[in-house]
This record gives sequence, structure tokens and C-alpha cells, in this order.
Amino acid sequence: MRLQGNPRVTVVGAGVIGLTTAIVLQEAGYEVEILTKALPQQTTSAVAGAVWLPFLARPVEKVARWSATTYFRLQAMAGAGVPGCAMVELQLFPAEDRLPPWAGLLPAGAIEALPADRLPSNCRHGWQVQAPMIDTPVYLRYLFDRFRENEGLVRLQTLEQEADFPLEKGWVVNCTGLGARALCHDEELYPIRGQLVKLVRREGLPFLVDERDLSAPTYVFSRQDAIIAGGTAEPNEWSTETDRGTIDGILERARRLVPALDDLPVIGTLAGLRPARSTVRLERVPGTRLIHHYGHGGSGFTLAWGCAGEVLQLVREAEVS
Ligand SMILES: Cc1cc2nc3c(=O)[nH]c(=O)nc-3n(C[C@H](O)[C@H](O)[C@H](O)COP(=O)(O)OP(=O)(O)OC[C@H]3O[C@@H](n4cnc5c(N)ncnc54)[C@H](O)[C@@H]3O)c2cc1C
Repeated sequence: MRLQGNPRVTVVGAGVIGLTTAIVLQEAGYEVEILTKALPQQTTSAVAGAVWLPFLARPVEKVARWSATTYFRLQAMAGAGVPGCAMVELQLFPAEDRLPPWAGLLPAGAIEALPADRLPSNCRHGWQVQAPMIDTPVYLRYLFDRFRENEGLVRLQTLEQEADFPLEKGWVVNCTGLGARALCHDEELYPIRGQLVKLVRREGLPFLVDERDLSAPTYVFSRQDAIIAGGTAEPNEWSTETDRGTIDGILERARRLVPALDDLPVIGTLAGLRPARSTVRLERVPGTRLIHHYGHGGSGFTLAWGCAGEVLQLVREAEVS
């Protein structure tokens, strides 16, 4: 329902952060327009795996809060049959031999120690986590359709400088991901490249993440279109091309963990640039109707609903003050 008298909002960007923010504002009664250089399927968000798992995002306390909100939201969406959204049993082999710091955010029983006979060789600890899994192309299409069905408008446009934010129309929420580096001269923002491989789909494969080497996390997920095997975390790499040696390394690591991948033909490779920053930038520029909302690193899907709720709160607080 659109409330009379509410100011308009322009959300810049149509990745998972822009779409989720647009929907939260729209469903709170604001008239929202998305203005974007690229449509959802051409964004970094469409390259991601993706699983709910806080990774390469700070500050720790806020990330915990935003992640928790998003976990429960995605769990409810999976329960309601939202396309591209499911709860899975994720096997996690952590970087440190202790319970992950975010374990306390989960509902009781959602994380359990894996028995020794289910651990890979050289691995002393592992966890089975009931985690939200996002089939990103399908989920982004769902978000985009939901926004459009709520009468949301989308305009393709590239903003060249901060002065282009259409503040004369109302609120602007800047969800441009890594694009904010050039747009806002934010040198704190940098890419952490992730490469992954798509293999022919097969039923019954496990979902797993091996974080023991954080510079080369290994993961295997099933999507509607393919099995996804990753990955890498390469700071300051700007190329969105994959390289052969790295892809071979990913396949070797993934096949070691899931031998059934041996038989599956490779059908493609992908590389995406995580928008990394010392901390997520989620703030209102004082005295203006501009909110920056970018820099979610390796956790955009993990944080999106929590962060979008905070954007709504910033807008509401400013409107009543
Ligand atoms: C390989 C890989 C695996 C990942 N796995 C996970 C995972 O398992 N779980 C998880 O939570 N996260 C994961 N991530 C991270 C996640 O994908 C990102 O955090 C998220 O996509 C960031 O979303 P965003 O909307 O901020 O940016 P983007 O998806 O990049 O969207 C930015 C939008 O802004 C627009 N834009 C940019 N500049 C301009 C401009 N000047 N003018 C107008 N529009 C502009 C773009 O066109 C685009 O629409 C992964 C990332 C990669 C690369």
C-alpha cells in the first residue's frame, strides 16, 4: 500500500542490496524508483553462490545484527516457497577450531558438530548448519518481479558523479556496490575477486564450505542451472575474466572434497568482484536526504534484509524529526 504524502525514494543500483532496499521501502508505503546502470542479472549479485554466511564484511557487531535479521527472513521466505530460496544442510569446515562467532545468532539446533567420520582428511572440526541457500539468478528475478508488481519503476541510467543523485525528487539510497568507488571517490572500497566453476547439475550432492584457507575458500552448491564450485578471495583484482590455472585449482580442491564431481562436465566459469570495505557504509549524509548503502563484501545476501530495515529506519527517523 502506498501512503499519501510520503516522499519519493530513488534507489540507485539493482543488485541484491538495491532490490531488497527498494522492496522494504516500497512495502513500507514509499513510492520507489530504481535507477541503475545494469539490470539484476548483469550484476555481481548474479555471480554469487550464494549461502547465508557472514564473510569478508565488517563491523562485526552490526554484521551480526544484520545477518541475524536476514537469516530469519530468508528462513521464512524458504518456508513460504519463494523461488531461489531454500534451507539446506550445509557442511562447514571452519578456519578456526571453535564454534563460528555467528553461531549464537542461529535458532537452537541449527548448528551441530559433524561426527569425525564425516570430516575430510586433515580436518579436525566441522559443523552441520541449517543455512539459507540462495539460487542467485532465480532469487534476483523474484525480487525484481516483486518490485515491479508493486508498481515500482526501473530506469536504466549510469550516474557519473555524486551531483547526479536526483535529490530534488526526494530520498536517494546509493546501492551501487563497487560502483561507489568511482561515483563517490571512495578509495576505501576495493574488489575482492571470486572465481567459480559451473558443472552439469546432479541431484544429491552435499552443500559445503571449506574455510580452512580463507584466501581460497572451497565451496560446492547446487543451483537450478548447475553445480557451483568455488572459489577464491583475491583482493584488488579488477578483472572479471577467469584464469585457467585458478579454475583448475578450484576444481581440484572441490573434487577432493566431493569426489562425485569428477564425472561432471564443466559448463562455464565466472568471476565477480565483491565490494569490500573496512566497514559497510550504511549512513545518512547529515542534513541531506542521501543514504549510502554499499560495501557488503562477501556477505550481500547474508546482510540484505537487516541492512534494508536499517535504511527504512533512517528515513523514518529523519521524516519525523
Ligand atoms: C564469487 C562470489 C561469491 C559470493 N558468495 C556469496 C555468498 O555465498 N553469500 C553472500 O552473502 N554473498 C556472497 N557474495 C557477495 C555478494 O555477491 C555481494 O556482497 C553482493 O552482490 C553486493 O551486492 P550489491 O547490490 O551491493 O552490488 P552489485 O550486485 O554489484 O550491484 C550494484 C548495482 O549498482 C549499479 N551501479 C553501479 N554503479 C552505478 C552507477 N554509477 N550508476 C548507476 N548504477 C550503478 C550496478 O549496475 C548494479 O545494478 C559473493 C560474491 C562473489 C563475487
